[in-house]
Amino acid sequence: MYDFEYHRAASVDDAKSKFGGADDARYMAGGMTLLPVLKQRLDQPSDLVDLGDLDDLRGISEDGGNVVIKAMTVHHAVNTSDLVRSKIPALAHLAGTIGDPMVRNRGTIGGSLANNDPAASYPSAVVALNAAIHTDQRTIAADDFFEGMFTTALDEGELITGVSFPVPEAAGYMHFPNPASRYPIVGVFVAKTADGARVAVTGAGACVYRVPEMEEALNANWSPDAVAGIKVSADDLNEDIHASAEYRAHLVTVMAKRALAA
Ligand SMILES: Cc1cc2nc3c(=O)[nH]c(=O)nc-3n(C[C@H](O)[C@H](O)[C@H](O)COP(=O)(O)OP(=O)(O)OC[C@H]3O[C@@H](n4cnc5c(N)ncnc54)[C@H](O)[C@@H]3O)c2cc1C
Repeated sequence: MYDFEYHRAASVDDAKSKFGGADDARYMAGGMTLLPVLKQRLDQPSDLVDLGDLDDLRGISEDGGNVVIKAMTVHHAVNTSDLVRSKIPALAHLAGTIGDPMVRNRGTIGGSLANNDPAASYPSAVVALNAAIHTDQRTIAADDFFEGMFTTALDEGELITGVSFPVPEAAGYMHFPNPASRYPIVGVFVAKTADGARVAVTGAGACVYRVPEMEEALNANWSPDAVAGIKVSADDLNEDIHASAEYRAHLVTVMAKRALAA
């Protein structure tokens, strides 16, 4: 680990001001990704601005037809929330599949979305449910937020404050986990929304993506059978020691079918 200055922010404004006053700062939520990255000397920030005291950024509420989850809410809280379980059970289920108990008690939805790991679970829910990401500056639509591997639409120093998930008519999530880390090798979130069916895939490519041919089939027939015969292309999919691109493509169909059955 390289040396850095450590700050605890007292408010969102204080976090912004400490971030802006530093040479090359990073926000820290639960540190679940950031601290391993620093330990391995893969990043060398001048300052860390810890968001851990910002209770205003924790909590889950209902607002109109949306479930609103604030950025510092940990995965365990999403998994065990009565509101999420009753309104969007697939989202509560997804949160319960993330990592292990320590990760679920420290890792946050804001940190996960800002980091945009290609295998992160939440981006599939955010895209399939057509959620909106709120920051200290603006609201960003899910389809515009995830730009590529570890890259998002966030500007330098822009802070995620929460996410609004429209309550769908139906939704399901299923993933095929890496047996060691529990990250999805492939995860598929399906949702029947006010704008029609949406299918979002994580783990398979460089970044979460939608599957238009499955969405079209589900708009005609919302059932596992509708996607069973759809084979997605393996072009540009990830390939590593865990799974080939062809195997990941196969898993997209299998996980979509299971998510619909769930
Ligand atoms: C062993 C292990 C297994 C895991 N398995 C899974 C899994 O199965 N699925 C999955 O999705 N994830 C998994 N994770 C990741 C986990 O879900 C964390 O949510 C993720 O690592 C982010 O951690 P964090 O919230 O503590 O953010 P941090 O590590 O503190 O920060 C991550 C990044 O986000 C930035 N950031 C944090 N908060 C904000 C904010 N509010 N606004 C703007 N930028 C912000 C930070 O500057 C940093 O760049 C795993 C992690 C570990 C260590």
